[in-house]
Parts: sequence; structure tokens; C-alpha cells
Amino acid sequence: MNWISDYVRPRIRSLIAKQDVPENLWEKCPSCGQMIFHRELEANLRVCTACGHHMRISAQRRLELLFDEGEFQTIELPETPVDPLRFRDRERYTDRLKKARSKTGKQDAIVVAHGTIGGSKAVVACFDFAFMGGSMGIAVGEGLVAAARLAVLQEAALIAVPASGGARMQEGILSLMQMPRSTIAVEQVKEAGLPYIVLLTDPTTGGVSASFAMLGDIHISEPGAVIGFAGQRVIEETIREQLPEGFQRAEYLRDHGMVDLVVPRGELNATLGRLLSLLTVPSLPRAAEIIPLAPPEAAADGTGPGEPVATEAESVTSGGELESAEREPQEPRGG
Ligand SMILES: [Zn+2]
Repeated sequence: MNWISDYVRPRIRSLIAKQDVPENLWEKCPSCGQMIFHRELEANLRVCTACGHHMRISAQRRLELLFDEGEFQTIELPETPVDPLRFRDRERYTDRLKKARSKTGKQDAIVVAHGTIGGSKAVVACFDFAFMGGSMGIAVGEGLVAAARLAVLQEAALIAVPASGGARMQEGILSLMQMPRSTIAVEQVKEAGLPYIVLLTDPTTGGVSASFAMLGDIHISEPGAVIGFAGQRVIEETIREQLPEGFQRAEYLRDHGMVDLVVPRGELNATLGRLLSLLTVPSLPRAAEIIPLAPPEAAADGTGPGEPVATEAESVTSGGELESAEREPQEPRGG
């Protein structure tokens, strides 16, 4: 009886108890330590309800948030050589790949999808940090090339969403080759006259930040994201100096001109949609509609010589003519 009540019963109870209360019902905010109920956290797009810290999210969730109504089509990425260097550290690279694939359900650290954002066509190349730290190897480079080609083919904007620790060291020089490769890929989009926007998420570091991730026409970032090449500790040890508060954070980079906008997660779809509508011509008939709407007389009169009512810009210099001519077209657009 003793054996049953003292040993067997507690064991059984503990087994049942564990199933009743899964460990992940509450999640701790890594920034402020607040415990947040998992449903509340999901409803708030994995942004801390107490301090606003943006936690990392999967590529799938990211794409759902970015595209209109969460609707998009992913494309199949080309096959790439697996473990070309037969690399092995504590574990075989092929084993690491297998683990990452079963954990994330993804083939590699990048997902390419297309759909609409704010009604404009867009191709999104999104990293999954859960897949080997979002590291960039041959497959990721191939994904970026495929995304760029698709954008050119569809005459859509390209949006890259890096979340990466940098190059994948298990692929050595081949992973470094993805830096020029991805650079050329995004250049093709720019040459086609299409917008290329980068949405920097936590973290964007190493070879990724040193290639396509810093080449956008516009750089948007999520609040608090770490963006940089080398880590803070490495820099401090190298230059033997204390780095300023908030160094390598999105807000710091915005204040120093490296990032254009810091946008909270919930506003990303709306912000990207607005940017895309400004950067792309939706279709020719609509563009034709806009032109007659602009009062052509007003524009001609405003810039015309001998106009009795001169604006400030016009009265100061002769260059005022150019200034007002530049300003004029914006007014009908706004109205
Ligand atoms: Zn928090």
C-alpha cells in the first residue's frame, strides 16, 4: 500500500497534471519580463501588451499580416545542392537541416509569396528566423533571385523582410556568394522601374545587412529591431569604447538616416499599401483620369510670368518658378 500511495500515485498524478497545463500558456516578455497569456499575445500580433516589445514571428504569420486580408500565394523555390561542403561541426549540417525543416515545416529560411498590399501587387521575400537563425545560404540566395524575377515578371513591387543572423557558415564561401547575388537580384527590380522596399525586422545582421537588406528604395523597420553588421559586444571590444544607448536599434538608425520609418507591426499593411500606391502607377486608365483632374490653368497661371499675385517662393528668386512648378502637381494629388 505504501508503495502504491507514496510512489505510483504521485507519478501518475504528475503525468496527468503535465498534460492538463501546457507550459506555453503564458509567455514571458524578453524585454520587460511581463507574463502574457498566449491568446492575448497572439491577438496583439505578438507585441508585448505591457511594454510594446515586438517579439519574433514566423514567416507564415508575417505574410498573413502583410498581405491584404491575409491572402497570398507562396511559390515553390528551386532545388539547390544540399551540403555542398559536407560540413560538420558538433553535428552534421545535413542533420541540422533536417531538424530545422521538421521544426518549421519550411524547406529553408526563406518564403516567397505574392499577392496584394493596399490593392497594389507585391512580391514578398520573407525570412524565418526559426530556421537556423534565418541564415543566408544558397537556398536563401536562390529564393531572393526567384522573388526578384517574379516581381519583374508580374510588374509588382518587391518587399524583402529579413530576419537573419547573417551568412550560413556551414556553406562557407558559397553563402558569402549570396551577397553579390542578392544584390544583383534586387538591382534587376530597380532597373525594371519597380519599387524595392525592405522591412527590417529583429534581427537583421551580418551578411544580410551588408547586402540586399540595406539597398531598398525605402527602409521600414519594426520598433526596437536590432540592425547592424557586427554585434555590439564585438564592436566595443574592437574599438575599446562604450557604445551609445540604443545603438543598432531601429529608432537609433532612423535618427541617423539609415532607416526611413519605424512602424509598429499592426500598421505595416496600411503603411506599405500607402507607399506602394505612391510608388506605382496602378493602371494606365486610372493614371489618365488623374491628369485632367489637376487644374491645368492653375498650374499654368501660378508659374506664368507677370502673375500679379506672387507666392513667397516666386517673389524671392527666379528659381521660385521651378519650386512652385514642383509643388503644384502635389496639390491635386492630395486633393
Ligand atoms: Zn514587455
